[in-house]
Amino acid sequence: MTALRPAVFLDRDGTLNVQTVRNGKPYSPATAEEFQLLPGVAEGCRALKTAGFALVVATNQPDVGRGVLAPAAVEAMHAKLRALVPEIDRIEVCYDREDGARRRKPEPGMLLDAAAALDLDLGRSWMVGDRWRDVDCGRRAGVRAVFIDFGYAEELKAQPEFKVRSFAEAVEVILSRDP
Ligand SMILES: [Mg+2]
Repeated sequence: MTALRPAVFLDRDGTLNVQTVRNGKPYSPATAEEFQLLPGVAEGCRALKTAGFALVVATNQPDVGRGVLAPAAVEAMHAKLRALVPEIDRIEVCYDREDGARRRKPEPGMLLDAAAALDLDLGRSWMVGDRWRDVDCGRRAGVRAVFIDFGYAEELKAQPEFKVRSFAEAVEVILSRDP
């Protein structure tokens, strides 16, 4: 029998990389050049990996389904992300609404698919994100949710286990509970 590993599931935009905020609403980067890591992310991912967590990015990219962003642009951003954070084990992407019935956050499909592929223990895992969809997705997948609150003009639906103000703080919370 394979031993199941715990994971930290990571939202992408606003959690790992910088977003532009206009009128209280966050917008995602469209090119690899625009794709920049937030402070503390590379170090935080290294610390989580050292503590024994698998790292899985789970990201909705609905602009691809809408035809305003090319899949190749997303792939270029993810190549950059993997180069900057080599500790990442897997990147799950949901491009469109059809797929979204099961995989688009707040649905838990991306987390469940990664758990099946990597033999992950959801009961010992975490979800980190900056939007209500991340919190709800984590709760639906049966993992603990850490919400990074940037004060967007948006209400949460489900409540997270923890609320923090930065990625570094999210890592601190996780490592203090599951060292
Ligand atoms: Mg986000």
